[in-house]
Amino acid sequence: MMAPPARDWLDPLRRALDASPAPVTFFFRDDDVGWSDDRLFTLLDLFARYGLPIDLAVIPAELGPALARRLERTVSDSGDRVTVHQHGFAHVNHEHEGRKCEFGHARPGLDQRGDIERGRQRLRHLLGPLVRPIFTPPWNRCTAETARCLVDLDFRVLSRDVSAVPLNQAGLAEVSIRLDWHAHRRGVRLSPNEWGEALARVVSTTEPVGIMFHHAVIDEAEHEALRQLLGVLAGHHHARSAGIMALARDEAVGKAH
Ligand SMILES: [Zn+2]
Repeated sequence: MMAPPARDWLDPLRRALDASPAPVTFFFRDDDVGWSDDRLFTLLDLFARYGLPIDLAVIPAELGPALARRLERTVSDSGDRVTVHQHGFAHVNHEHEGRKCEFGHARPGLDQRGDIERGRQRLRHLLGPLVRPIFTPPWNRCTAETARCLVDLDFRVLSRDVSAVPLNQAGLAEVSIRLDWHAHRRGVRLSPNEWGEALARVVSTTEPVGIMFHHAVIDEAEHEALRQLLGVLAGHHHARSAGIMALARDEAVGKAH
């Protein structure tokens, strides 16, 4: 759990935005939809209050009809502000050693493709045309083989962490996360002050600042800190926000010039 925020923890971010020569674009990705529905909708209420966009990464195997109906309503009511896309298939680790990965080197392309396709079918069946052609691999990790399968299956965007080596797969844009709301350093959760500094450091006029959330672990204290952050991002004259699809299109346009 994050310590209660000090009043000025967001000052470094405010100063960085004040000093920015041009607007800074933020985007928000919330992972593991299918788990902890109550906390998911609490987070979505908060985003609605500030009118900020959010991309939801849904675990196909964990999505049931009841949650699907609720999501469908939320997405349509939001007028494109809330969108949904695929987060792996079952969110299980298939690696025998090393870091956790659902779409890692332990899995041949055919297995990966089978899972991605099954997941896509399930989301389409339950959510229909609302699903965006974006893929977020669990634990932000996958292989070049995954990227090839995604293009074959008509996905347009891959979203991982900015530290991942770009896969440079033709036809697949990459829109990466820069900050993890739940980040740890040497096993200790960043304090609000450290987080405010980290935010200020990634403020950039050329790269969108993607922030990743896991609603399942956002408790009340965190919720208040997040409310403060969204308040700054919704109100600052140098802060903009966009969804992942729009940013992928911008990236494609930028490459074409
Ligand atoms: Zn996940």
